[in-house]
Amino acid sequence: MACPCCGNASTSRDEALRLPDACPACGHRWQSTVAVTPSDYRTQQHRNDTNSPGHQDKLSDRLRDIGPLLNAGMHILEIGCAEGSLGQLVRGVKDVTYTGVELSADAESAARLLNRVIRSPANSIAGESFNLLLSFHVLEHIEDIAGELAHWRRLLVDGGSLLVEVPNQAGHRLLSMDPNLEHIHQFTPSSLTALLHHAGFEVQRLETGHWESSVYSDSLRVLARPALSDAQRRTRLLQRFLARLPEPFAAWGIGGDFRGYVEPLLDSLPVAALVDNAAQRHGERHGHLVVEAYDPLRHEALPILVCSVRHREEILHDLASLGIAASRIVTLDDIFGTSES
Ligand SMILES: [Zn+2]
Repeated sequence: MACPCCGNASTSRDEALRLPDACPACGHRWQSTVAVTPSDYRTQQHRNDTNSPGHQDKLSDRLRDIGPLLNAGMHILEIGCAEGSLGQLVRGVKDVTYTGVELSADAESAARLLNRVIRSPANSIAGESFNLLLSFHVLEHIEDIAGELAHWRRLLVDGGSLLVEVPNQAGHRLLSMDPNLEHIHQFTPSSLTALLHHAGFEVQRLETGHWESSVYSDSLRVLARPALSDAQRRTRLLQRFLARLPEPFAAWGIGGDFRGYVEPLLDSLPVAALVDNAAQRHGERHGHLVVEAYDPLRHEALPILVCSVRHREEILHDLASLGIAASRIVTLDDIFGTSES
């Protein structure tokens, strides 16, 4: 059987040692014989050990990562909300609509604390979308993780976030195998990343060492978001250029950074001239434009884009000595500088 996370076909099984299947590429392990099915959870209760000494610290640790993702009015779905304590905390921080998915009888307690509780698997939810998906220690219980993640992606809006936590491998550094029969999958940072990638997510942050309980003291927490397509990346980058340079401008410094970062967008940008101080570049053609020397008469009115990251200071110095006002100048750092939009 191919690895359910990375797709590698040469996975192994050791029948004699009764080890689960393993993928040598991403380290994922999984049980091919499933002992516990979704219907087995229905009669269970008090799944979360809310009296354990670490319970409040665990919730605080989760809330620390969730807090910065919250906006008033957002719709949150927690897959596996247990008795609803995390949702109750989140609702105390921001005015959000919080829906929980819970198969066990803990759904009854959760219904008193959350806006809504759905007592069927998340893959039964259709025609709804959420800004934030949360899931702590659920994915390892699900047999078809690829199908599940693909469904989670469909439940999430394009600008949304997914925060998911599972045991890191066996969940404890000193255990090789997770003995919990409910756990079909043992993830590694690589296998969870591969699974998310295949489901159309990109990882923003990945951490090990989160505490779930004494025997699951090493949990893997990933913040992910829907991946952008190549076309979406291009459009967003173009928007950044056009926000700074909406009118015809001169591109200055026609070297490697220009070829890497500006030339691919040349057809969609209002570039009126390509300028470089180096005479050996003059006459070089890029698209419909030819590299030339700075001509104060023809270029005087144009804003200037400094097209080199590495030689930015040098070029800025040259521009200053030509008496070009700083207000006319935009750098690639101005455009690429912030990490997100
Ligand atoms: Zn794999």
